[in-house]
Amino acid sequence: MGAPRPGRVLVAEGELTARVAELGRAIARDYARENPVLVGVLQGAVPFVADLMRALPIDLTVDFIRASSYGAGTSSSGTVRLVADLAVDIADRHVLIVDDIVDTGLTLGALKRMLEARRPRSVRTCVLLDKAGRRETDVTIDYLGFTIPNVFVVGYGLDYDGLYRNLPYVAALDAI
Ligand code: 5GP
Repeated sequence: MGAPRPGRVLVAEGELTARVAELGRAIARDYARENPVLVGVLQGAVPFVADLMRALPIDLTVDFIRASSYGAGTSSSGTVRLVADLAVDIADRHVLIVDDIVDTGLTLGALKRMLEARRPRSVRTCVLLDKAGRRETDVTIDYLGFTIPNVFVVGYGLDYDGLYRNLPYVAALDAI
């Protein structure tokens, strides 16, 4: 019995590159004079933030936040805990949360409420992957990369038990 391995590619490297460039153009247009704070959600959003920020030819600040994750499991616990906070003060700033994937929406919804409590000028969300039909709570995705089916995915920041974040594409995890 081996560990589950990455299987079918759902989003290829070239598709990621092209979509990040498109998102960059839309975000750059909307935030041209706003000097936003991009808030990357560790660890999964790291490659996405790194690529997206370089697709944004505008003044901006980047910082990171870390919420509790699934650990080795593959389903949401429903509880969200902040394990590392921002270094920057977001009061009066335009905030764009950049996250890897939204499943139930509980994590992103909780993070958004936490940041909104700090009196920023605005909080919007940019998410690479959306699992259609899985939402348990209402959370708006303002900028979305791709809608994917309800399968557990790895790669481009997303892990299974700490593995596969380094893959340059998004793949389904093969069943154990
Ligand atoms: P939610 O709170 O929306 O149910 O889950 C969001 C978080 O669950 C994501 O930030 C990510 O850490 C994790 N997650 C949800 N679906 C997947 C998946 O298919 N693969 C991986 N690696 N993580 C996932």
